[in-house]
Amino acid sequence: SSEGRPMRTFKKSSKLDNVLYDVRGPVVDEAMRMEQDGVNVLKLNIGNPAPFGFRTPDEVVYDMAHQLTECEGYSDSRGLFSARKAIMQYSQIKGLPNVTMDDIYTGNGVSELINICMSALLDSGDEILIPSPDYPLWTACATLAGGKPVHYICDEEANWYPDLDDMRSKVTDRTKAIVIINPNNPTGVLYPPEILQGIIDIAREHQLMIFSDEIYDRLVMDGKEHISIASMCPDLFCVTFSGLSKSHMIAGYRIGWMVLSGNKRLAKDYILGLNMLSNMRLCSNVPAQSIVQTALWGHQSVKGYVTPGGRIYEQREYVYNALKDIPGISVVKPDAAFYIFPKIDVKKFNITDDVQFALDLLKDKKILVVQGSGFNWKEPDHFRVVYLPRIEVLSECMTKLADFLSYYRQ
Ligand code: PLP
Repeated sequence: SSEGRPMRTFKKSSKLDNVLYDVRGPVVDEAMRMEQDGVNVLKLNIGNPAPFGFRTPDEVVYDMAHQLTECEGYSDSRGLFSARKAIMQYSQIKGLPNVTMDDIYTGNGVSELINICMSALLDSGDEILIPSPDYPLWTACATLAGGKPVHYICDEEANWYPDLDDMRSKVTDRTKAIVIINPNNPTGVLYPPEILQGIIDIAREHQLMIFSDEIYDRLVMDGKEHISIASMCPDLFCVTFSGLSKSHMIAGYRIGWMVLSGNKRLAKDYILGLNMLSNMRLCSNVPAQSIVQTALWGHQSVKGYVTPGGRIYEQREYVYNALKDIPGISVVKPDAAFYIFPKIDVKKFNITDDVQFALDLLKDKKILVVQGSGFNWKEPDHFRVVYLPRIEVLSECMTKLADFLSYYRQ
């Protein structure tokens, strides 16, 4: 019997000690408590299109329904032939060099593949260059894998492009790779060829591999063209990520992919590691794989969202103009995705803790945003707004935010 012995409690693994993923964190927990109490919270916190009336193209749903009975078994661990063939074609259009069917892996979202890539790569003390601000899963997975995320600065004064001098200065003997997120979450900025070339020069000089998260590559506005960095450096080893969560509004179906390209001879052993981890998870969700071909090559409903008159385009115009007119806020106009990352004048509002700022805004105005520190941004002077809600809702939020800042800590 256990009589007389102290009660045994179960603690989480110390591997999680420094893992941060605050896109769903303490501020969100508070918002959920408020909702349970019947409060209506205006949610500008998560990049999940479906709840905001962005519907999956009908043909995609139809396609999945008709294939369900054929998707009962596991697939090849990398994925169905039809899905990988479609991704192969997409990779060719993007100019990814030296890609074969074996270089394409599907995943339960890009999320699973980021985790696999970091686990297969990093030993204790190995360093990887990750942007600040970032989509925090990259830092979290690198940390969980036992590696050391080293953040390079993206410079708001320079349109949020990576600061190449800062990136270069942070390379050490232990650095293995550079991560870029292009188009970026949380800044919404698209990188031009000069910046990509600068990153390639650093990778070349120090023999680093490149991970490029391009999940927003089909959500680019203003007639700009997305360029895959891998297409510019066939001599380097690159891994390029994309998926359907954002472009086809099916974040819940869980389907993403990664494509290995360029000089794969440099990464023979690493690829064995990727294959092992890919095999260990058996395969990604097969019904979701079954629609990749139709989604990628069917009717491109997403284009209509990001051109003038389309919802994402118009909502960006609205939210950008509204934010820049609020005293104490300044902001860079995003090119892509559905995020904007405004700066708050911390002196004016005497802000030292951005979690507190987000909590105060939540409690006072029932508006939920994510604080900049949730994206590994070191100063307490930013927050991210997801502009997926309709303009009527965004307008209510912006009016309330302006009102809040007219009296906050003054
Ligand atoms: N990468 C970036 C930059 C993201 O913003 C997200 C989701 O917000 C993901 C990856 C993960 O997407 P999923 O796992 O749905 O493919």
